[in-house]
Amino acid sequence: MTTGALFGSVVAGARDRGGNDPIFALNAEAARRAAAGEAIVNATLGVLMNDDGRLAVMPTVLETLSRSLDATTAGYAPIAGTPAFLRASIADLSAEGAPADLAVATATPGGTGAIYQSVLNFLEPGQSLLTTSYFWGPYREIAAHAGRGTDTFEMFQPGGGFNVGGLQDGLERHISSQGRALVVLNFPCHNPTGYSLTRDEWRSVAERLRHAGERAPVTVLLDCAYLRFGGSASTAWADAVPTMLETTTVAFAWTASKSFAQYGARVGALVALHRDEAERAQITNALGYTCRATWSNCNHLGQRAVSDLLTDPELRRRTHRERQELVDLLGRRIAAFNEAAAAVGLDMPRYDSGFFVTVFSRDAQATATRMREVGVYVVPVSGGVRVALCAVAESEVPRLVDALAEGVRRA
Ligand code: PLP
Repeated sequence: MTTGALFGSVVAGARDRGGNDPIFALNAEAARRAAAGEAIVNATLGVLMNDDGRLAVMPTVLETLSRSLDATTAGYAPIAGTPAFLRASIADLSAEGAPADLAVATATPGGTGAIYQSVLNFLEPGQSLLTTSYFWGPYREIAAHAGRGTDTFEMFQPGGGFNVGGLQDGLERHISSQGRALVVLNFPCHNPTGYSLTRDEWRSVAERLRHAGERAPVTVLLDCAYLRFGGSASTAWADAVPTMLETTTVAFAWTASKSFAQYGARVGALVALHRDEAERAQITNALGYTCRATWSNCNHLGQRAVSDLLTDPELRRRTHRERQELVDLLGRRIAAFNEAAAAVGLDMPRYDSGFFVTVFSRDAQATATRMREVGVYVVPVSGGVRVALCAVAESEVPRLVDALAEGVRRA
């Protein structure tokens, strides 16, 4: 018998792609060391853990999911999503300032599916999305896999604060080089930096986008994965949305992963707003086609449970209370982290809410490596290390901050 492949069956461009996200690989290494008995602080994965190290869940969400399972949810959901779920996700966003009468939506497998939908339908093949210099890594993979690219603008001004001028330059660049723009903004609680735009920053961002939309088709994708963890920052875009809608398409990557602590259910939606009805009809066509041609239809059980959770007054009340406990849990860690970080002078953006913060470092790889040597796991990103405080017990915060200070100093 001949061993070894006679021909390569996998096409050349796909052969060496890493299937496992680097964050999941680091998490696995941390878990292996912890299982072998080492005291490990694992600040890698973007899931909210209780202080005892178990996944934080919301009992009402679990109950509703179990109750929703029946012969109907065993069947296919409509391709673009169940009407009840689409109405509920639109209503959820309209409560935060997105006018429901201008919205269309399609169900997606989590926010990831909504980002994929946007890249495919608001950019031509070969064109690039525009996002901040710090960004959630999978944007790059989603775009590349769809034959599109990723381009960035410097996220922060030298003294801190959002670099609105950088966004404007990026818009000019994209409009002149590709005749359209898809801008992806992940606020509130930006991953990986933890930054949330202020109301004033949103106003300036919206003005720049409105202006760009006068010259070319511009779509603004608001990746609001952490919307329910942003506190007052979650409504900071309320005045900005109408301004952007004067000339652009405003789309939201909505997901139940974080707001219902249901990462595994893969329930999400792309909610797109446009002032023109004919344009909305075209968006609906395009999104429905992509569903059919990609994942066909989404989780029926999840859509039913999440629409009930969003619309039933009693379930809404209970869910709100349980989520608030999780927000408070995270809030205590953030307060402890900010205090300890200020005491040792860590260089980082303003961090008020959300799952992550980035600590700036001259050499992120060296910082992360040094920290691993002392059993503390963070994720190196370009310009710093991402700290997933969502996964670290409050009692571990001092050890985490000491390791960060030492790791940055020695890098
Ligand atoms: N966007 C950001 C910034 C994220 O951090 C995540 C998840 O970690 C997502 C989108 C998508 O998550 P999901 O596909 O689980 O909804």
